[in-house]
Amino acid sequence: MSWIDSHCHLKSFYQKKVLDVVLRRAMLSGVEKMITVGTNKSDWSLYQSLSQQYLKTVFYTVGLHPCYVDDNWVSELEGFSGFWSLSPSPVALGEIGLDYFRLPKNIVQAEKIRNLQKECFSFQLGVASDLGCPVIIHARNAFDDCVRLIDESGLDWSNVVFHCFSEGMDEIEKLINRGGYASFTAIVSYKNNDQIRSALKKQGIDRLMLETDSPYLPVNQGEKKANEPSAVPLIGESVSLTLEKSVEDLACKTTSLAQSFFSLYN
Ligand SMILES: [Zn+2]
Ligand SMILES: [Zn+2]
Repeated sequence: MSWIDSHCHLKSFYQKKVLDVVLRRAMLSGVEKMITVGTNKSDWSLYQSLSQQYLKTVFYTVGLHPCYVDDNWVSELEGFSGFWSLSPSPVALGEIGLDYFRLPKNIVQAEKIRNLQKECFSFQLGVASDLGCPVIIHARNAFDDCVRLIDESGLDWSNVVFHCFSEGMDEIEKLINRGGYASFTAIVSYKNNDQIRSALKKQGIDRLMLETDSPYLPVNQGEKKANEPSAVPLIGESVSLTLEKSVEDLACKTTSLAQSFFSLYN
């Protein structure tokens, strides 16, 4: 059985000089490919060089995460589309989106940040549209605004994945109706997350992608140890119980969708 971690962040493992060990553990557990997702200028070049070093195992994306958006977002993004002329090039633009969870307490400040996030998100959606590449969406407490801005951008929804899906039935239906995708992390197995499990069932096995979002979101709720890509099969086991499908079927379907969605062939 082989698996793909469609969303992780490898920077902290690299900084702690444990990346080789982490990648070996991933291989041993059957996670043969992973996508390390960019969040700001400080990780894009690192991820490009890792994808060169671990060719065909580590793939990468470039994008400005909403939590890094401030007055300087225009200069932060200067030249970022240049990554698409490098080899290897990013397999998606992301993660981008809106995060209304951590906003300043001051109402005026909060409104200002929300507006900056929207401007920056719309700009990056436009770039993705021009490039025709997949887009990884981060939506936290901002699902409807994200959907609206994607609708307005004219982006092809079949290129859109909402990562770490943490909403319910209404929201998953909005994605399915538009032809977009949701990918799921370990939080789908946390207690009290019945609405996420319902959304998982609604989308079904044929449109499913799995991710760790490591080093965040441990498989065992509340665990302090850093999560890592080798955990994908554990998430897969839990999802297979919810979906009442075999683990083999799940590994096969999620791997082939992630391969084709992100074109993980070169
Ligand atoms: Zn995210
Ligand atoms: Zn992430």
